[in-house]
Amino acid sequence: MNCPNCGAAMRLKDDADYLLCDYCQTPHFPDLNSDGVRVLGEPAGIFCPICAISLTHASVARERILYCERCRGMLISMDLFPEIVRDLRSRREASIDAARPPDLKDLDRQIRCPKCSAIMDTHPYCGPGNIIIDTCENCAQNWLDYGELDRVVRAPDPAVPMSFLPTKQRT
Ligand SMILES: [Zn+2]
Ligand SMILES: [Zn+2]
Ligand SMILES: [Zn+2]
Repeated sequence: MNCPNCGAAMRLKDDADYLLCDYCQTPHFPDLNSDGVRVLGEPAGIFCPICAISLTHASVARERILYCERCRGMLISMDLFPEIVRDLRSRREASIDAARPPDLKDLDRQIRCPKCSAIMDTHPYCGPGNIIIDTCENCAQNWLDYGELDRVVRAPDPAVPMSFLPTKQRT
Protein backbone atom coordinates (compact mmCIF):
# COMPACT_ATOMS: atom_id res chain seq x y z
CA MET A 1 0.00 0.00 0.00
CA ASN A 2 1.03 3.61 -0.43
CA CYS A 3 1.93 6.21 2.17
CA PRO A 4 -1.09 8.35 3.18
CA ASN A 5 1.34 11.24 3.67
CA CYS A 6 3.46 11.28 0.49
CA GLY A 7 2.09 8.51 -1.73
CA ALA A 8 5.35 6.50 -1.88
CA ALA A 9 5.17 2.72 -1.47
CA MET A 10 5.30 1.59 2.14
CA ARG A 11 7.02 -1.51 3.38
CA LEU A 12 6.32 -3.86 6.22
CA LYS A 13 8.89 -3.41 8.95
CA ASP A 14 10.43 -6.70 10.15
CA ASP A 15 8.79 -7.93 13.33
CA ALA A 16 6.85 -4.70 13.80
CA ASP A 17 3.10 -4.32 13.54
CA TYR A 18 3.09 -1.38 11.17
CA LEU A 19 4.13 -0.31 7.70
CA LEU A 20 6.82 2.27 7.21
CA CYS A 21 7.29 4.78 4.40
CA ASP A 22 10.93 4.70 3.28
CA TYR A 23 10.59 8.11 1.74
CA CYS A 24 9.09 10.25 4.54
CA GLN A 25 9.46 7.75 7.43
CA THR A 26 5.77 7.94 8.36
CA PRO A 27 4.62 4.79 10.15
CA HIS A 28 1.15 3.52 9.27
CA PHE A 29 -0.92 1.33 11.58
CA PRO A 30 -3.86 -0.21 9.67
CA ASP A 31 -7.06 -0.31 11.78
CA LEU A 32 -7.92 -3.48 13.67
CA ASN A 33 -10.60 -5.52 11.92
CA SER A 34 -13.63 -7.02 13.67
CA ASP A 35 -11.49 -9.98 14.80
CA GLY A 36 -9.02 -7.63 16.54
CA VAL A 37 -6.46 -8.35 13.82
CA ARG A 38 -4.34 -5.65 12.20
CA VAL A 39 -4.05 -6.82 8.60
CA LEU A 40 -0.74 -5.51 7.27
CA GLY A 41 -1.64 -6.30 3.70
CA GLU A 42 1.48 -8.07 2.43
CA PRO A 43 1.14 -11.64 1.19
CA ALA A 44 3.27 -14.07 3.15
CA GLY A 45 3.84 -16.44 0.23
CA ILE A 46 2.63 -19.44 2.19
CA PHE A 47 -0.88 -20.72 1.88
CA CYS A 48 -3.95 -21.16 4.04
CA PRO A 49 -4.37 -24.86 4.91
CA ILE A 50 -8.13 -24.52 4.42
CA CYS A 51 -8.55 -22.17 1.43
CA ALA A 52 -5.16 -22.51 -0.30
CA ILE A 53 -4.93 -18.75 -0.86
CA SER A 54 -1.87 -16.85 0.36
CA LEU A 55 -1.83 -15.93 4.03
CA THR A 56 -1.27 -12.26 4.77
CA HIS A 57 1.08 -10.68 7.29
CA ALA A 58 -0.95 -9.35 10.22
CA SER A 59 -0.65 -8.74 13.94
CA VAL A 60 -2.71 -9.41 17.01
CA ALA A 61 -1.89 -7.93 20.43
CA ARG A 62 1.07 -6.28 18.65
CA GLU A 63 2.63 -9.66 17.77
CA ARG A 64 3.06 -10.77 14.17
CA ILE A 65 0.92 -13.61 12.87
CA LEU A 66 -0.20 -14.85 9.45
CA TYR A 67 -3.88 -14.44 8.69
CA CYS A 68 -6.25 -15.76 6.03
CA GLU A 69 -8.46 -12.97 4.74
CA ARG A 70 -10.97 -15.51 3.43
CA CYS A 71 -11.61 -17.96 6.30
CA ARG A 72 -10.08 -15.67 8.98
CA GLY A 73 -7.89 -18.49 10.32
CA MET A 74 -4.60 -17.59 11.98
CA LEU A 75 -1.14 -19.13 11.99
CA ILE A 76 0.55 -18.15 15.25
CA SER A 77 4.03 -19.09 16.39
CA MET A 78 3.98 -21.27 19.52
CA ASP A 79 6.48 -18.90 21.16
CA LEU A 80 4.16 -15.93 20.81
CA PHE A 81 0.87 -17.67 21.49
CA PRO A 82 0.94 -17.61 25.34
CA GLU A 83 1.97 -13.93 25.22
CA ILE A 84 -0.89 -13.06 22.87
CA VAL A 85 -3.44 -14.95 24.96
CA ARG A 86 -2.20 -13.35 28.20
CA ASP A 87 -2.33 -9.88 26.70
CA LEU A 88 -5.81 -10.28 25.21
CA ARG A 89 -7.20 -11.99 28.33
CA SER A 90 -6.03 -9.10 30.49
CA ARG A 91 -8.25 -6.76 28.45
CA ARG A 92 -11.15 -9.07 27.71
CA GLU A 93 -14.77 -9.34 28.54
CA ALA A 94 -15.30 -12.89 29.70
CA SER A 95 -18.19 -14.77 28.20
CA ILE A 96 -19.94 -17.86 29.43
CA ASP A 97 -20.52 -19.01 25.85
CA ALA A 98 -16.82 -19.44 25.41
CA ALA A 99 -17.03 -22.28 27.96
CA ARG A 100 -19.18 -24.47 25.72
CA PRO A 101 -17.76 -27.91 24.91
CA PRO A 102 -15.40 -28.34 21.96
CA ASP A 103 -16.67 -29.48 18.61
CA LEU A 104 -15.23 -33.00 18.62
CA LYS A 105 -15.88 -33.40 14.89
CA ASP A 106 -12.92 -31.09 14.39
CA LEU A 107 -10.66 -33.83 15.73
CA ASP A 108 -11.24 -35.82 12.53
CA ARG A 109 -10.07 -33.04 10.26
CA GLN A 110 -6.58 -33.24 8.85
CA ILE A 111 -4.86 -30.14 7.57
CA ARG A 112 -1.32 -29.56 6.40
CA CYS A 113 1.12 -27.15 7.97
CA PRO A 114 1.36 -24.04 5.78
CA LYS A 115 5.13 -23.96 6.34
CA CYS A 116 6.32 -27.56 5.90
CA SER A 117 3.22 -29.33 4.48
CA ALA A 118 3.32 -32.11 7.08
CA ILE A 119 -0.08 -33.16 8.48
CA MET A 120 -0.70 -31.03 11.55
CA ASP A 121 -1.36 -32.56 14.94
CA THR A 122 -5.02 -31.93 15.78
CA HIS A 123 -5.81 -32.07 19.50
CA PRO A 124 -7.77 -30.34 22.27
CA TYR A 125 -5.96 -27.20 23.43
CA CYS A 126 -4.82 -27.54 27.04
CA GLY A 127 -5.63 -23.91 27.96
CA PRO A 128 -9.03 -22.21 28.35
CA GLY A 129 -11.73 -22.06 25.67
CA ASN A 130 -12.30 -25.76 24.85
CA ILE A 131 -10.97 -25.48 21.35
CA ILE A 132 -9.49 -28.09 19.05
CA ILE A 133 -6.16 -26.71 17.89
CA ASP A 134 -3.88 -27.78 15.02
CA THR A 135 -0.17 -27.64 15.70
CA CYS A 136 3.09 -28.35 13.89
CA GLU A 137 5.88 -29.17 16.32
CA ASN A 138 8.55 -28.97 13.60
CA CYS A 139 7.69 -25.42 12.70
CA ALA A 140 6.44 -24.47 16.19
CA GLN A 141 3.17 -23.11 14.78
CA ASN A 142 -0.44 -23.19 15.93
CA TRP A 143 -3.33 -22.93 13.47
CA LEU A 144 -6.53 -21.39 14.86
CA ASP A 145 -9.73 -21.39 12.89
CA TYR A 146 -11.99 -18.36 12.84
CA GLY A 147 -13.33 -17.58 16.32
CA GLU A 148 -11.01 -19.93 18.19
CA LEU A 149 -8.64 -17.26 19.50
CA ASP A 150 -11.68 -15.33 20.67
CA ARG A 151 -12.94 -18.36 22.59
CA VAL A 152 -9.57 -18.82 24.31
CA VAL A 153 -9.51 -15.15 25.23
CA ARG A 154 -13.09 -14.90 26.45
CA ALA A 155 -13.34 -18.19 28.34
CA PRO A 156 -13.98 -17.69 32.06
CA ASP A 157 -11.00 -18.29 34.35
CA PRO A 158 -10.84 -21.92 35.41
CA ALA A 159 -12.17 -22.45 38.93
CA VAL A 160 -9.34 -22.93 41.42
CA PRO A 161 -9.64 -26.46 42.82
CA MET A 162 -10.45 -26.33 46.55
CA SER A 163 -7.38 -28.33 47.47
CA PHE A 164 -5.14 -25.55 46.13
CA LEU A 165 -6.58 -22.92 48.47
CA PRO A 166 -4.99 -22.23 51.84
CA THR A 167 -7.01 -24.10 54.52
CA LYS A 168 -8.34 -20.87 56.04
CA GLN A 169 -10.28 -20.02 52.87
CA ARG A 170 -11.96 -23.42 52.52
CA THR A 171 -15.30 -22.48 53.99
ZN1 LIG B 1 5.63 8.80 2.90
ZN1 LIG C 1 -8.33 -19.61 4.73
ZN1 LIG D 1 5.31 -27.41 9.81
